[in-house]
Amino acid sequence: MDLFEYQGKQYFERYGIPVSKGAVADTVDEAVEAAGRVGYPVVVKAQVKVGGRGKAGGVKLASSPEEVKAHAGNILGMDIKGHVVERLWVEHATDIAKEWYASFTLDRAAQLHLLMLSTRGGVEIEEVAKSEPDALVRVHVDPSEGFTEGQASQAVMDAGIDDSVRSETAELLTKLYRCFVEGDCDLAEINPLVLTAEGKVHALDAKVTLDDNAGFRHPEWAEFAATETTDIREKSAKERGLNYIGLSGDVGIIANGAGLAMSTLDVVSQVGGSAANFLDIGGGASAELMASALELINSDPSVKSILVNIFGGITRCDEIANGIVEAMSRVDLKSPIVLRLDGTNAVAGREILAGHISDRLVAERTMLDAAARAVSLAAGR
Ligand code: GDP
Ligand code: MN
Repeated sequence: MDLFEYQGKQYFERYGIPVSKGAVADTVDEAVEAAGRVGYPVVVKAQVKVGGRGKAGGVKLASSPEEVKAHAGNILGMDIKGHVVERLWVEHATDIAKEWYASFTLDRAAQLHLLMLSTRGGVEIEEVAKSEPDALVRVHVDPSEGFTEGQASQAVMDAGIDDSVRSETAELLTKLYRCFVEGDCDLAEINPLVLTAEGKVHALDAKVTLDDNAGFRHPEWAEFAATETTDIREKSAKERGLNYIGLSGDVGIIANGAGLAMSTLDVVSQVGGSAANFLDIGGGASAELMASALELINSDPSVKSILVNIFGGITRCDEIANGIVEAMSRVDLKSPIVLRLDGTNAVAGREILAGHISDRLVAERTMLDAAARAVSLAAGR
């Protein structure tokens, strides 16, 4: 689960990592009120779970209530890379001397934790890694030993952190590591980590991804879960017991089993198309679930064709066929369906569908043929 910046900062605070004083606001009036509480000048920041808010105009300095009003009005409702801003974080502005970067994450290949530290912060770290690889210090940490004092002081030295704040920065990194481990994060990233004009080091941004598998030992995560999915379709999928993730393409995908759903995305991409979603209806899916999956996909305005890829194991193809027939009678499907149905009771399934085959419901024998047909239908061919 990804956290919003303000939640990430609240998480950091629990581990003693210094952040600016701030408050959330959901309206322009609340933003003005929040600014008054945290003290001018302030920064008005869009709360969306995507990076590059600054570049998109979602981070603005304000030194008066009028400016807060104007910026808050502009930023609320703004679309940043497909994420609509519904909440602001208003914090006391920092006088920045330098912008650095620090993060802890898991290096799965090395089976170790990884610290990344750089004095080239405030920009995308992938860019730094490409253009100035030497400016990015990487330190592997053995989880059984933890992040040692020696590693911390070596890292700040290697990264070229200013002498005057080396021990302060090393201490902050140690706190960030504790947050990462005890806080069960997959990622704890500060970009930028700033050196202020007064010579203090603190976190100006926070990107935290929590490891959902550790949720059972963090009852306090419930408050984060409450603000989680704002995507209407993802929310409605959860309620219907479907595994759905929205993507940016135009071929709607329905498959049974996560592995088959992923292969289906691959095959669609292999034949030159792009998927509008990932949707796994699970093993043993019923007619009702199939119908509800079709309804969900149908509600996505970017979908131009729907590829249903079912391999019946526990799932029975006749059940799936009944679900398709039911969905076709129940909802006004906007896109043609391309179907690949194989496995348990496939013959019975095809018999059920035989009377319904038309240019709105096309059957193909293989996954590749079905994907190619769905992609060409989506392209209007
Ligand atoms: P991001 O673009 O989504 O990563 O959002 P950030 O929170 O990292 O903010 C983007 C940029 O805005 C930072 O790199 C800073 O340059 C600038 N910024 C953010 N907060 C402040 C602040 O308090 N004072 C000043 N002067 N600049 C800020
Ligand atoms: Mn940032």
